[in-house]
Amino acid sequence: MAGSGKTTFVQRINSHLHSKREPPYLMNLDPAVHSVPFDSNIDIRDSLNYKEVMREYNLGPNGGILTSLNIFATKIDQVMNILEKRTLPNPATPNAKRIKNIIVDTPGQIEVFVWSASGSILLDSLASSFPTVIAYIIDTPRTSSTSTFMSNMLYACSILYKTKLPMILVFNKTDVKDADFAKEWMTDFESFQAALKQEEEMGSFGGVEGASTGLGGGSGYMGSLLNSMSLMLEEFYRHLCVVPVSSMTGKGVDEFFEAVAEKASEFEKDYKPELEKRR
Ligand code: GDP
Ligand code: MG
Repeated sequence: MAGSGKTTFVQRINSHLHSKREPPYLMNLDPAVHSVPFDSNIDIRDSLNYKEVMREYNLGPNGGILTSLNIFATKIDQVMNILEKRTLPNPATPNAKRIKNIIVDTPGQIEVFVWSASGSILLDSLASSFPTVIAYIIDTPRTSSTSTFMSNMLYACSILYKTKLPMILVFNKTDVKDADFAKEWMTDFESFQAALKQEEEMGSFGGVEGASTGLGGGSGYMGSLLNSMSLMLEEFYRHLCVVPVSSMTGKGVDEFFEAVAEKASEFEKDYKPELEKRR
């Protein structure tokens, strides 16, 4: 979600890889961002002026982003050519250092990316050549109530099913708030229910005053809806890696790369055969 720290996270893993002398290949797909803190190798803004796209097609901000992505997607074969050249072994230059990681930063309005044809084209193209893993970045301090937590997880779940790619949940900003509560809620259904109940008693459910009547504790439609959703989410959680990080301090970045390695091999084993079947 916007402001969860996607760009800061990309910057953090970028500098981590640089310090290991394995510089990644960086792509910025946010046409509306003012400045990017890293040197991207491919930047959607190099070939497109988002403000001009808005003016030319008479669009608002979201339409401008969507149209910019659509225009960019028409050049995906050129992009893939570049990426393949930099990453795959080349018999002509066997000793040249190959790029091991490609990192793609997505637009602030993630729904534009996930739910658009161009987003699918970009992701499918990447996944047809490389093991591709989604990192879903969560703003941990802003996800600490049961209702925001639940809607964030459902959102992640919908992205998993839409993209059909392996996913890592990155709980960011742990320098501000620890992610232990989230890990507990994800592994122990009863602790989530207890938190629901407690929020109900405090009348703070969803931040709506007077919402405490029958909400959250298993009675009333919201309570029973939340209960059944958390059972569904238990199944979802089983397919995920969860990594708490701080993009600010760098804590958790090693664990993130361990999760990437795990998910990349899962991609080869489980996801790739599925993708090829669909093609
Ligand atoms: P994006 O919209 O998802 O790309 O988010 P940004 O990377 O632009 O970050 C949004 C805000 O969150 C900025 O003010 C960042 O400085 C801040 N931020 C990002 N990561 C962290 C973190 O790990 N800890 C803290 N305290 N702030 C962070
Ligand atoms: Mg950003």
